[in-house]
Amino acid sequence: MQLSNQYKQVQTQINSALSQACRKPEEITLIAVSKTYPVSAIREVYQLGQLDFGENKPQEIRDKSPELPEDIRWHMIGHLQSNKIKYVVGKCELIHSVDSIRLMQQIDDYAFRNYLQAKILLQVDIAKDGNKQGLLEKELPEALEICENLKATSVHGLMTIAPFVTDAEQNRWIFRKLRQISVDIQGKNYHNVSMDILSMGMSNDFEIALQEGATHIRIGTAIFGNRKYN
Ligand SMILES: *Cc1c(COP(=O)(O)O)cnc(C)c1O
Repeated sequence: MQLSNQYKQVQTQINSALSQACRKPEEITLIAVSKTYPVSAIREVYQLGQLDFGENKPQEIRDKSPELPEDIRWHMIGHLQSNKIKYVVGKCELIHSVDSIRLMQQIDDYAFRNYLQAKILLQVDIAKDGNKQGLLEKELPEALEICENLKATSVHGLMTIAPFVTDAEQNRWIFRKLRQISVDIQGKNYHNVSMDILSMGMSNDFEIALQEGATHIRIGTAIFGNRKYN
């Protein structure tokens, strides 16, 4: 009951942000970030028509997915250690959080050896708030050249995590910058690289991200409520 109200509230906010920005709902994908939440909560949101869910730990995808409908599309959005690649490749729709060249190559090797295909985004550290989450902008040219030679992996766009701020306007420059970088990359026509996806915006700032061109927004708290960590 409460979940369905929160979910509908988020959809209403998305739709009004989109219409203000003269964008169409078909252009964007809402990812319901279900990390730390049980299968029962995911099922409730699934029953409202939500198919895309995000997790930041591979083990959660491994543990939850067998108990849930098969048409759920899982999105890996958290830092991925190389020994957990096997829980993600072939199981996820999209890996948003490829934050190093080495990880990209390891994903590709695993996919290739197992006759699988991986769809990835490059995570870029725009905010540089000290968490070092993602590739730096200056590392992208080298990464993109390597992308051209991947065997079983395709690159579909960019992702960033903006810091938590009290006024979401403070993150606008981050989203604008990521968009600009993606436009620049698109113009260079790298083989095996498309820039169709911009994964940016969370509960706190998705409206600004939508105004700045986000195609995939990752929303946890606003749908599921505050997370409890042990
Ligand atoms: C947890 C998380 C989210 C969702 O954050 P909320 O503020 O709860 O909406 C989005 N993206 C990533 C990478 C996350 O880890």
